[in-house]
Amino acid sequence: MFNLILFGPPGSGKGTQSIKIAEKYGLIHISTGDIFRNEIKQKTELGVKFKSLVEKGELVPDELIIDILDSALHKYQNINGFVFDGFPRTLNQSGDLDNLLGKDKESVTLVLALDVDDNEVVTRLLKRAVIEGRKDDTEDVIKNRLQVYKDQTYPLIDLYKKQNKFVGIKGIGSIDQIFDNICGEIDKR
Ligand code: ADP
Repeated sequence: MFNLILFGPPGSGKGTQSIKIAEKYGLIHISTGDIFRNEIKQKTELGVKFKSLVEKGELVPDELIIDILDSALHKYQNINGFVFDGFPRTLNQSGDLDNLLGKDKESVTLVLALDVDDNEVVTRLLKRAVIEGRKDDTEDVIKNRLQVYKDQTYPLIDLYKKQNKFVGIKGIGSIDQIFDNICGEIDKR
């Protein structure tokens, strides 16, 4: 299987690029943000627990994610692999992912991070707020999400660098240009 992790700060275009990657390479797109927003919308027991955290830009606790992920991964059979979008976001979660994939004798193949500076991200997300009305796209919450990314997700980059799985991608440019750079890295593997 080809298992790709796509990292990047909020607003870096992970969602857009993940969909394109999944389509081109026949991979299953797993977005934890989409999964959580769906739980919130359906007002499930978990959704009710997540709502205020997600709206404040805080992370959902690691222990609540593992079961959701386990069932998301095991819904599929005979697949080429996954694109993980927004997961893992903590060191703990990366361990959980290794264990889950390891149970099926699989592992993370490649980790790409979209590199976009803070000013650009804030501008993009404030624009998206007008169009999509996501509750976590207000200026204060965006700043918090950026800080959470730096504090909790950044350390994962070092981890995957040590495993020789990490490549940074310039996240500024047209969607197609960025996608071409991503495909270039995938095709090397
Ligand atoms: P973005 O990357 O633009 O912040 P996402 O859609 O990936 O947006 O995530 C939205 C919110 O969902 C996060 O701010 C967080 O509250 C929650 N979330 C998503 N993925 C995770 C995760 N792996 N661990 C904890 N919380 C998560």
